[in-house]
Amino acid sequence: MPADAPKPTPRKELSAPQKALHKLGLVRSIDLALHLPLRYEDETRIVRLADAREGQTVQVEGMVTHSEITLRPRRQLLVTLDDGSDTCTLRFFSFYPSHQKALAVGARVRVRGEIRGGFMGRTIMHPAFHAAGGELPNALTPVYPTSAQLPQVYLRKVVASGLARADLSETLPPELLGSLQAVVRAPWTLRDALRYLHQPGPDVSLDALEDRSHPAWQRLKAEELLAQQLSQLTAKRERDALRAPALRTAPGGLHEQLLGVLPFALTAAQRRVGEDIARDLARPVPMHRLLQGDVGSGKTVVAALAAAIAIDSGWQCALMAPTEILAEQHFAKLIGWLEPLLTPLGKRVAWLTGSQKKKQRTEMLALIASGEAALVVGTHAVIQDQVVFKNLALAIIDEQHRFGVAQRLALRSKMSPAAEGELSPERRGAGFARPPALPLEGRSGDAQRASDGGAPHAEPHMLMMTATPIPRTLAMSYYADLDVSTIDELPPGRTPIVTKVVSDQRRHEVIERIRAQVAQGRQVYWVCPLIEESEALDLSNATATHAELSEALNRGSVAPAPLPLLAEEVEAPAEPPGAAGVLVGLLHSRMPVAEKKAVMALFSAGHMGVLVSTTVIEVGVDVPNASLMVIEHAERFGLSQLHQLRGRVGRGAAASACVLLYTPPDGGRLGETARERLKAMAETNDGFEIARRDLDIRGPGEFLGARQSGAAMLRFADLATDGHLLDWARQAAVHMLAQHPQAAEKHIARWLGTKAEYLKA
Ligand code: ADP
Ligand code: MG
Repeated sequence: MPADAPKPTPRKELSAPQKALHKLGLVRSIDLALHLPLRYEDETRIVRLADAREGQTVQVEGMVTHSEITLRPRRQLLVTLDDGSDTCTLRFFSFYPSHQKALAVGARVRVRGEIRGGFMGRTIMHPAFHAAGGELPNALTPVYPTSAQLPQVYLRKVVASGLARADLSETLPPELLGSLQAVVRAPWTLRDALRYLHQPGPDVSLDALEDRSHPAWQRLKAEELLAQQLSQLTAKRERDALRAPALRTAPGGLHEQLLGVLPFALTAAQRRVGEDIARDLARPVPMHRLLQGDVGSGKTVVAALAAAIAIDSGWQCALMAPTEILAEQHFAKLIGWLEPLLTPLGKRVAWLTGSQKKKQRTEMLALIASGEAALVVGTHAVIQDQVVFKNLALAIIDEQHRFGVAQRLALRSKMSPAAEGELSPERRGAGFARPPALPLEGRSGDAQRASDGGAPHAEPHMLMMTATPIPRTLAMSYYADLDVSTIDELPPGRTPIVTKVVSDQRRHEVIERIRAQVAQGRQVYWVCPLIEESEALDLSNATATHAELSEALNRGSVAPAPLPLLAEEVEAPAEPPGAAGVLVGLLHSRMPVAEKKAVMALFSAGHMGVLVSTTVIEVGVDVPNASLMVIEHAERFGLSQLHQLRGRVGRGAAASACVLLYTPPDGGRLGETARERLKAMAETNDGFEIARRDLDIRGPGEFLGARQSGAAMLRFADLATDGHLLDWARQAAVHMLAQHPQAAEKHIARWLGTKAEYLKA
């Protein structure tokens, strides 16, 4: 029955509410105990109607003196309640015959709801009600986060019983309780904190409870952050126990040759991060490094240098990008540099993409399996099951924030057992037993420890790249097991991008500006709005803008030649832009890949003056001659997305600009958040500053996106306000793992246990 907390019983059929509990991750007693109220309702008192204020949520008790169903303006049930001090109307738009019966004239009822004014006198809309009388509770009533299948009343009972049964014994050793005291005055025990938060007495301050500043909340947040730090630290130690091939480049080898053929000198920042990476690769432990650098900071060449080291040591390297067009655009240069150096070695570059023909794909798979392909480049196709590497040693993920945790893990598991055997001579024939790939990082680590009886298993080195930098508190919290290298300078000779925020009413002026740019031989991007509800609308909008610009820019000139449809046709020499009208291209996600490639090829080659696109160009595209970026309905984009888009211009020496076109809602003003975002964009070009403001505006949950944060998402702590607790938790975790490993394990299991279970499923 409901009062019993359900246990994980995979064989028995679960009831509907039990299933709903499981869906919320509420499986063990402790999970229920840690499921905390969103807010509270005060049912401890009955208020006299004469004393109730408008806007107040109150509980009143009285007699029904009138009840009727009216049909105008809508069918509704109107009930008059009289408590002797005053009367008020109860109003229901949806109701059953049972409502009418319970609220018949003469019935005495207890009613809860918000008092509102109005021309019919004081009203409570859709109040909760039951028969009058009955004992009043002596604590506030908690309101829990729940789902449609899980009634609040049921959940309350289950949580109360979970709280009564859960093991809430202290996991913190005395010295950590002491250090916590320095951060939180008079810290509570977990047991007291939970009791208090689930069943606060009638006289507590609701404000302190609801803004989570109360010491009981502080204790919970501290505990939660500690669990997260412990699990991250454990994951890091586990990774340090793994093996990876030690990769070194020989003097005069590929690395040096590549540096020799680059058309530019590396920036100091590129050299520095390159050294970080080379140092990691030389160790027999898998690298797990995030390379962050603003858009255009030159991450690709750093990736190419890392690949050169792996290939020079006789191993394979895989490069993965989120979309085909990016893979191609982004890696074209890299391949252009590396391929001529590989050919004399009898090595090749293999491509893997979703749109490939079967025959070509089969060929590529064979190249990869034989090891002839030293470098494998592609999209998600790289992590599919059929792809078997001969000896993968380095996996590079570009724009890593666009990939899920599972995809990154899949790439990690691509090292073949045969290759593992070759890590070092003494390991040969040691009989590597490969544990199954782990479903998610941030788990408690039990699974892995269980398999530690044998030799440690091997993984490739991982280099993840991103242009969306992670603010410091987030890096400390979510990526404690990740090493971070940062490219903090742009290649020389770039002129800063000037950003203007412009109302759509001045669209014609923007089009004039485009005309001027194109006349100077420059190129322009025009990005169309993201309409989340409908891909079709997205498209029609882009198509309409494409038509509008083609018409406006070609008025009075010879129409441009029709678009060639295949990439091969692009080679035909085109007129310089401007002479015979302006070629305006269209790019959107539903176009066939061949067509997308043809359009991109025309734009890259400089034959196309203007490219209208949906957000497919968001990341990675590199056309230095493009000097103007127009973003339509900029108010609909997120801050980091706007920054990514803007980074498509300003890649050459020419002065570049970004125009953020906004359309206020009919007659109104832009919303606060949208205004803040556009202002931030106009004020700074610095990706780190943008990331910091983005975090302020959105909060860490949205900033990271659920799929990135994986199991590590915080429920209670808020990194914007709880930095002091995070600092404590970081130090406490190191100490606890070293001095009290069992308590640490218990603490992790308490906080993350079910999640780990769930994630394994
Ligand atoms: P991102 O970090 O956004 O991936 P890219 O790797 O695409 O940036 O580099 C942006 C542009 O800068 C490319 O055209 C690249 O060839 C060029 N570039 C990279 N490093 C340098 C450098 N040290 N000096 C001059 N240009 C560079
Ligand atoms: Mg890039």
